[in-house]
Amino acid sequence: MFKKTLIKLTVLNSAILILLIGLLGGAIYSYERAVTFRSVNGNLKAATGTLPLDQRNEAGPIGPGMHDRLIVAVLNSGNKVIRANRDELTSKTIKPFLTKKTDAVIEKNVEGSYYHLIATKIKTVQGTFTVYYIANVDPEKNLLNTLLSIILYGTGIGTILSIVIGYFLARRALRPIEVSWEKQRQFVADASHELRTPLSIIQLKMEGLLKKPHGRIQDAGSEISVVLGETRRLSKLVANLLTLARSDANRLEINRDMISVSDLLKQVVEPFQEMAGYHEKTLVANIENKPMTIIGDKGRIHQLFVILLDNAMKFTDKGGRITIACGIENHMVRITVSDNGIGIKEKDLPHIFDRFYQTDTSRTDREGTGLGLAIGKWIVEQHKGKIIVQSKVNEGTCFTILLPLAKPKSGQEDK
Ligand code: ATP
Ligand code: MG
Repeated sequence: MFKKTLIKLTVLNSAILILLIGLLGGAIYSYERAVTFRSVNGNLKAATGTLPLDQRNEAGPIGPGMHDRLIVAVLNSGNKVIRANRDELTSKTIKPFLTKKTDAVIEKNVEGSYYHLIATKIKTVQGTFTVYYIANVDPEKNLLNTLLSIILYGTGIGTILSIVIGYFLARRALRPIEVSWEKQRQFVADASHELRTPLSIIQLKMEGLLKKPHGRIQDAGSEISVVLGETRRLSKLVANLLTLARSDANRLEINRDMISVSDLLKQVVEPFQEMAGYHEKTLVANIENKPMTIIGDKGRIHQLFVILLDNAMKFTDKGGRITIACGIENHMVRITVSDNGIGIKEKDLPHIFDRFYQTDTSRTDREGTGLGLAIGKWIVEQHKGKIIVQSKVNEGTCFTILLPLAKPKSGQEDK
């Protein structure tokens, strides 16, 4: 799936690294070259500028070590050597060094040796002469060649390393994308599966009804109630899926209103208390009598409490007790929803916030979708809060939610 992208990213990463290594190598070589020839070239230029004509075959104000290396020759306008500081420098041997360029250092390769030279014209009453200052630069050239081969060798090794590093960097960059792609794929697969089940049941029941065109509605009560149940489940499933899909795409707006948690909890708990009585369960609310204000989306926080209370009711047997408590702890509003119901096995605990995860489907009526806690967790995260679960099989479960308190307006403090 991501092979092509992996290759493209590897090539791009490696190309950038190789380019950087190449640039660095080039910069080192140019710098070293400039430094190495600085002394020779400087001395050549100094010689042309400072020494009078009749002394040009002798050492002048040039750097140490240059006296032996510097070859000086004075040529007349016919390029004949009229004076030189080396016997071997004759009109014939000077030929390969001749240049039209004056007052600039140039490089010449003569019989396998490298020379830097500078020619300068001098006008005197006897005529115009050209003075050549020549220095053998073989030691410098050898040094630079060694450096060049080290740089080329290093660039070669660097290229191989760049490809390896480029590949690893590309893999690392792709990893989170692969994970979220896989999650998304799993989500779509699970959603399709979950949607197909109620649809098949509805189709089956409706086909059964069609086979009895003269039957009466009261005789088909059970089928119709199954169809209604599945339709309810479908509509809940679609609503939940839409919430999660929009949350994934960051397309769900979270309002930022001031919410009084205690007032909202009282509102949510009331109908559940009625329902608990009806199912022979007890629902106790311990809500501290303090102003507990948070900033958030009232509708979503309401939905969060309903998700937790609905679970507590669903997974608690007759005669069970559910407690909802609310207070303040370290600048956070702390809400706990605990029950003495069936509890959750330790191995299931890390997964209960996963989409479609249900520990015991026989317990959850057919209307459960396994999406409640996934949505609940998303709501808590959107409010910069925390949700924690503690549970023991056959003893009960406790969900704790921590939500940041709204900052009191200047001069006003939460008591
Ligand atoms: P839905 O909420 O979509 O109707 P659901 O209740 O099965 O379906 P969740 O609310 O996400 O899904 O819960 C996931 C699972 O976690 C449940 O199926 C159940 O196994 C376990 N669970 C959640 N709350 C409790 C609880 N209070 N006691 C025991 N098990 C629980
Ligand atoms: Mg639920």
